[in-house]
Amino acid sequence: MLLCENYTSHEDSVKTPYCTTHAATGLLLYNSPVMFEFTVEAQDGRARAGRFLTPHGELLTPLFTPVGTQAAVKTLTPAQVEDTGATLVLANTYHLYLRPGDEIVRDLGGLHPFMHWSRPLLTDSGGFQVFSLAAIRKIDDEGVTFKSHIDGSLHRFTPEKAIAVQENLGADIVMVLDECAPPYDYSYVQRAVERTHRWAERCLKVRTRADQALFGIVQGGVFPDLRTASAQFIASLPFEGYAIGGLSVGETKSEMYAMVELVNDILPVNRPRYLMGVGAPEDLIEGVRRGVDIFDCVLPTRLARHHAAFSPEGRLNLQNASFARDERPLDSSCDCYTCRTFSRAYLRHLIVARETLAGTLLSIHNLRSLIRLMEEIRLAIQNHTFEALYSEWLARWRGNAKRDYTEEISS
Ligand SMILES: [Zn+2]
Repeated sequence: MLLCENYTSHEDSVKTPYCTTHAATGLLLYNSPVMFEFTVEAQDGRARAGRFLTPHGELLTPLFTPVGTQAAVKTLTPAQVEDTGATLVLANTYHLYLRPGDEIVRDLGGLHPFMHWSRPLLTDSGGFQVFSLAAIRKIDDEGVTFKSHIDGSLHRFTPEKAIAVQENLGADIVMVLDECAPPYDYSYVQRAVERTHRWAERCLKVRTRADQALFGIVQGGVFPDLRTASAQFIASLPFEGYAIGGLSVGETKSEMYAMVELVNDILPVNRPRYLMGVGAPEDLIEGVRRGVDIFDCVLPTRLARHHAAFSPEGRLNLQNASFARDERPLDSSCDCYTCRTFSRAYLRHLIVARETLAGTLLSIHNLRSLIRLMEEIRLAIQNHTFEALYSEWLARWRGNAKRDYTEEISS
């Protein structure tokens, strides 16, 4: 595909996918303007209800994205994932590049047929896992060399490589390679921001697939000046969407919310905004209130593996003996398969008996809980009652002693 580098700004590209000075030649301003359309349908304060059109269907935002790290949402079939109301699933580039290998996935038709998920998919760039999981050998301006956490083999990711791997995987939404630095180290974060910006430009240059939306990523730790500069720079590039990275990595909640608000006030209003790796219930509602459209997090499925569930009473640790004769569902207000069918006593029995069905049933409920919260939020934004929902939800949450879902499992 031919690409004109004389694009002016993303605002122009919304009106026409073609470069105005080269319209006659049909050169595209950037590679995938026509297959992705984001519309803000309703707004209540900063909270937005939107619609994002992708080649594999429409996404209604705000939305929560389950994580299928290795092309599988742990313990669930795609049909079970779909039953929770999930519309977008995330898969990890780092893991799939190492195993089974992106070229194998490509040769088998891409991730959609490979994992049998027919709705939209998102892949991250692999950067976050390289920096958190792999033993890093060397990071430089060109890219990062790392050792596989599986077999110690040596690999190199560059912005160009991250795009090539994601083009092989074939998700609808793909991410630029970025560098996520420890949030409090100013000079390190500053260097990482500059590198992230150069890498973002390089990713834009080498993309070739018109059926993939490329999202830029804003970095900057907890520093308002770095976040502002990063948001302004990334927003000046013609991405189909914009992500906020480097949060929920050790900073306080109030610092995270402040950065989200600051960045979203700079990002273009006519593109989806994605807060990466964030998904505790209070973060979803606080994020939406500050203009976030898309979230992903391993929390619901990870909690399930720790035998814990979301509920209006707070975190339920189902292995506790107090549930042995509890005939109630996990959450009487929940419409998921688990809550419609099984008692807490049965779920506790499965956990004690080490039946794998426990993980499946808890994952179904936990995913549905967050997706249901997002559906309620979307409806409230459309009805302009979001602030009322927010106040009511927050008061209930604050009054709940078991509200921290991220703490380690207690006995
Ligand atoms: Zn449920």
